[in-house]
Amino acid sequence: MYVHWHRRDLRLADNRGLAAAADREPVVPVFVLDDAVLEHASPIRISGLLSALAALRERYRDRGSDLVVLAGDPREVLPELAVDLGAEGVGWNDDYSGLAADRDVAVRAAVEEAGLEAESHRDAIFHGPGSITPNQGEFYSVYSYFWKKWRDREKAEPIGAPTAGDLADVSGDPLPSAADLGFPEPEADPPEVGPGAARDRLEAFVDGPIYRYDEDRDYPTREGTSRLSVHLKWGTIGIREVYAATVAALEGADDEAEREAVEEFQSQLAWREFYAHVLHFNPETVHENFNEYEEGIEWRTDPEGLAAWKRGETGYPIVDAGMRQLRREGYVHNRVRMIAASFLTKDLLIDWREGYDWYRRKLADHETANDVGGWQWAASTGTDAQPYFRIFNPMTQGERYDPDAEYVREYVPALAGVPADAIHSWHELPVRKRRELAPEYPDPIVDHAERREEALETFRRARGEE
Ligand SMILES: Cc1cc2nc3c(=O)[nH]c(=O)nc-3n(C[C@H](O)[C@H](O)[C@H](O)COP(=O)(O)OP(=O)(O)OC[C@H]3O[C@@H](n4cnc5c(N)ncnc54)[C@H](O)[C@@H]3O)c2cc1C
Repeated sequence: MYVHWHRRDLRLADNRGLAAAADREPVVPVFVLDDAVLEHASPIRISGLLSALAALRERYRDRGSDLVVLAGDPREVLPELAVDLGAEGVGWNDDYSGLAADRDVAVRAAVEEAGLEAESHRDAIFHGPGSITPNQGEFYSVYSYFWKKWRDREKAEPIGAPTAGDLADVSGDPLPSAADLGFPEPEADPPEVGPGAARDRLEAFVDGPIYRYDEDRDYPTREGTSRLSVHLKWGTIGIREVYAATVAALEGADDEAEREAVEEFQSQLAWREFYAHVLHFNPETVHENFNEYEEGIEWRTDPEGLAAWKRGETGYPIVDAGMRQLRREGYVHNRVRMIAASFLTKDLLIDWREGYDWYRRKLADHETANDVGGWQWAASTGTDAQPYFRIFNPMTQGERYDPDAEYVREYVPALAGVPADAIHSWHELPVRKRRELAPEYPDPIVDHAERREEALETFRRARGEE
């Protein structure tokens, strides 16, 4: 027997570690409810995890096996189980955050100490950290160079799921509930997370929207993106399967424009790997700026501003709609994530770590590498970040990407009856007019033009230019 330790690879198909284990011995699939990991979890992510585990277990049961769920410290419970079963070894797929990497080193040592084999595999990404590098240094900090190499590298094909004969005849205890783990119900309506839901998403996306992706992806009401993030986060779909679907889409493209749209989507998959590399080599960037400014950035302490941002009550409609989408769905459209992050870090000049912490708690698809990468990009502190002098204007962004204000009206009911042009010029309307149109909706908490100047000054000072 061979133990496969599932972590963020909650699927049977296209799973490299699982396939490698199944090639040698009947596999005992295991998940460990690890206190050190649960400590960092949030209600919405626990809900995603439990939904994915239930779907995974069902697939194992369909094959006459089961998912063994253990609780405790993987350094102890994994070797213990493997020794009890007389297994040859324990295998798993790599993870790239600092915490995960440290844990894996410790588990490997414990498994080997018990006289067993420990084996890890690259699965979640195509090209591991250290395999796409500049002439000097271990990782690229400029995405476009990374992308060119990533795009031209050969990509592995998807692999099939193990069959009943590959799996050990084991049975597991019932899964705990969120309450058993000490988590309340999430505030947001959680998405369904599992291989079936993931595959449905992928199929629907490559069937049409992928061919308009480069045009539609920036418009939050067009449903132009894949919505695969929560599945890539939990590994309920394999990256090789996703990529193979994009290759098939390329072959089915009717013209150059469609091919470019598919390639634009592939380049988002490469962003994900770019940030995984950056985090792997810079685990401290979860807490620290990637690019430290000479004099340090003088972030403001503004608990009221932060609370208004979290509640979606800044008086900037597109920002508020995004923050309310987050609380309602555990998801925010990418363009709006950027606008809301820019508003927090530039208009409010609040430290990106506050925003990261909120997204981390509220996003169903929270993935450390992408979340830190996105925040540091918006705050102009990251790799290949938004230059500090390019500050999003939330009104013009709203006008451009949500011209009919449909997105805003969907998430901010107080603005439901307000015409789009008034929504887009909310900050300029006389107070009397605002009260008349939407008495429940707040006035802008700051003046964007003023705050823009103040942010520029702050960043110039941080650079030692004043
Ligand atoms: C401040 C901020 C925070 C973010 N936090 C997260 C996060 O916690 N988890 C997360 O997966 N993404 C995060 N992103 C990136 C992006 O917003 C989401 O990946 C995307 O909105 C998910 O929707 P989708 O699956 O429909 O994306 P699609 O547009 O369909 O993209 C396909 C996949 O590519 C990857 N991807 C797309 N854009 C990016 C990007 N900019 N960086 C890295 N990978 C990307 C994701 O895995 C995504 O699922 C963040 C962006 C910002 C600006």
